[in-house]
Amino acid sequence: MSGMRVVNCPTCGKPVEWRPENSWRPFCSERCKKIDLGAWAAGDYSVPGNEPDPGELNPSSTPRE
Ligand SMILES: [Zn+2]
Repeated sequence: MSGMRVVNCPTCGKPVEWRPENSWRPFCSERCKKIDLGAWAAGDYSVPGNEPDPGELNPSSTPRE
């Protein structure tokens, strides 16, 4: 047999047969797809450091009185 592709579900890591009828690919199920999308929406994947740190940006040339 050839042409059968198997990927791992990004959410649970379970092997998923990559078939046209699998509308949830690369996820194994609707549940895992929603979990992944939900994680994004919840900001779990947000990259720390996007917000400027006032302490770091505070210029040393700022006059103090
Ligand atoms: Zn899964």
